[in-house]
Amino acid sequence: MKPETSQPKADTNSSGGSRSGIPWLAVGSIPVAAVGGYFAQGEAAPWLIAAGSAALTFVAAALFAPSESAGAGESSSSSSSSSSPSSSPSSSSPSSPAKTSDPRFTASSGRSIEAREVANDVLVRAIEVRSTERTALLDSVGDAIVLVDSHGETRFANHAAGVMLGEAATQAGTRHAIEALPSGVFRAVQAVINSGGSERRRIETELTNKDATPVVILVNLVGHTDRLASVIVRDVHSEREADRMKSEFVAKASHELRTPLASLRAYAELLADGEVEDENQRCEFAGIILSETGRLGALVDRMLDIGRIESGMARATYEQVDFSDLASKCVDEQQGEANRRMISLKLARSDRGAFASADRPLMKQVILNLLSNAIKYTPDGGEVSVEVDTDNLARTVVVSVRDNGLGIPEHALPRLFGKFYRVENHEKFAKGTGLGLNLCRNIVEAMHCGQIGVDSKVGVGSRFWFAIPMDQAARKAA
Ligand code: ADP
Repeated sequence: MKPETSQPKADTNSSGGSRSGIPWLAVGSIPVAAVGGYFAQGEAAPWLIAAGSAALTFVAAALFAPSESAGAGESSSSSSSSSSPSSSPSSSSPSSPAKTSDPRFTASSGRSIEAREVANDVLVRAIEVRSTERTALLDSVGDAIVLVDSHGETRFANHAAGVMLGEAATQAGTRHAIEALPSGVFRAVQAVINSGGSERRRIETELTNKDATPVVILVNLVGHTDRLASVIVRDVHSEREADRMKSEFVAKASHELRTPLASLRAYAELLADGEVEDENQRCEFAGIILSETGRLGALVDRMLDIGRIESGMARATYEQVDFSDLASKCVDEQQGEANRRMISLKLARSDRGAFASADRPLMKQVILNLLSNAIKYTPDGGEVSVEVDTDNLARTVVVSVRDNGLGIPEHALPRLFGKFYRVENHEKFAKGTGLGLNLCRNIVEAMHCGQIGVDSKVGVGSRFWFAIPMDQAARKAA
């Protein structure tokens, strides 16, 4: 005998009556809506309803079959319980399930209906949880994912699709997503669908984003057997831009390397052929070879240094550095060249020192580079000065290198810290690699979270400056 608690309640019974007519439609609509919500975010497309109904029939059949046999087995005991005074109120009513000819309206069948309802609720909950999890998973992907049919109508679109293709693209049953993509994508979608789900395609194309900027996108198309296709869109604009910059770097580097190499070869050939009889000229040519070799070495070193910093392989060793002291050492090192060019070289520094946590050799490289540039691009007899200061409010040490030299035209300023950039005409004035300032910027900004900049006027002179956070905490916060 079944325990009393398994007896159907009066209201359950009445609803059970309605379910006996169309047994699982009411509960079946919930998984349909849940699955529909997963694919169509609330809008169940006709195919979805059809699929849901099929699933519904299957679920109903699966759940109904075992309970029928259970009901048959329980019929004798349920008839005895129906005569019991503790039977449910419905059992005594004229329409009591125990008295109906339909076996499903027996008390025991009422219990099986309740059991089925519980099983169904569990099933619905499981579908809902699964659906929510899958939507969350797809929404966490950075690529736009759109499921479309052969008419180009959206069945499902994830969050990234809304961001990349516009919010309307996520509306199920519309063609907004496919229309936001170049027309070739829809033709390819149809092709993969017509292949019966066996084909995959990859298209690299351009998309105009909401700021009217063209961006490069990579579209992956995957056909499914049920005449649907997944359209996965990735923004590869920055990757392509990085590729372009890499190729540009290689082209410029090769050019810069070829120039000193050509000159080295020419002078070496002259000496090797024995065509230079004059001893002084031979010495001069050997000197040129030496200086070009040095330039080549410096170029390669800078390229390697920049490459190491940009790839994150360069490691800095931070220590308390007195920038006043360091600047003084750099001035001493450049004094000989300044004297040779009759350039007055001065240092203005704080007596209390200017301390910041930094990598000493790297900082020396920055100061020396700015200082040698100032001397290089200042005519003989000019003035160059180095100032070291502290900004206690910003908690930074600021180093400035001033000159009254050539100056830099305004149009060149934004490109000055780029790779291989040299101001036109400066080439005639002094030799260089066009990589020094880029290396300085990498050391200051990427390795010390500092700032670097320039103020300049043609014919008046320039002031290059950089600021380094005084301590590690300030650097991390910067
Ligand atoms: P380079 O080895 O050519 O000097 P840099 O990267 O150090 O390379 O400098 C890039 C360009 O910036 C130089 O070629 C020059 O045209 C300009 N420049 C740098 N410093 C100065 C300065 N103090 N005065 C004028 N122009 C400068």
